Amino acid sequence: MPIVTRDEAAQVDRLLRRNRNLSPRAASAPRSLSGLVTCQLCQSPMNVSRVTARRKDREYLYLRPMTCPQQPQCPALKYEAVFEKTIEQICETLPQAISGINQPPLDQIKAGVAATIQGKQHIVEQLPDLVIQNILDEKPQP
Ligand SMILES: [Zn+2]
Repeated sequence: MPIVTRDEAAQVDRLLRRNRNLSPRAASAPRSLSGLVTCQLCQSPMNVSRVTARRKDREYLYLRPMTCPQQPQCPALKYEAVFEKTIEQICETLPQAISGINQPPLDQIKAGVAATIQGKQHIVEQLPDLVIQNILDEKPQP
């Protein structure tokens, strides 16, 4: 069961492409993840390579390490799989990031309410003294 539909994935792909000026390496790339993915084994940045099937009816995309020092080189990754993992991560972390931004400053509000309560309490505590001093009476004077 995929977490996002094809349409949603395409939409995120468009958004990532629109924001590709974040990475100069990705700017010239036709695919959004190019230059943004790093090989876990050798830390080399990865770019997209295209493989067309023999009958030319299907095109496969792979991410390959650009400057891999290993012999033999680290394996290429299927673009689609990395892209889906990336979407998964975005779906997981984005709501958390957004909820952090929209969180009201609770501590500040609590301190404000506590100060208000303390102020009112001070007035209430003064009431018996004021009655004794005949400033306040329990019943209005006739
Ligand atoms: Zn490598």
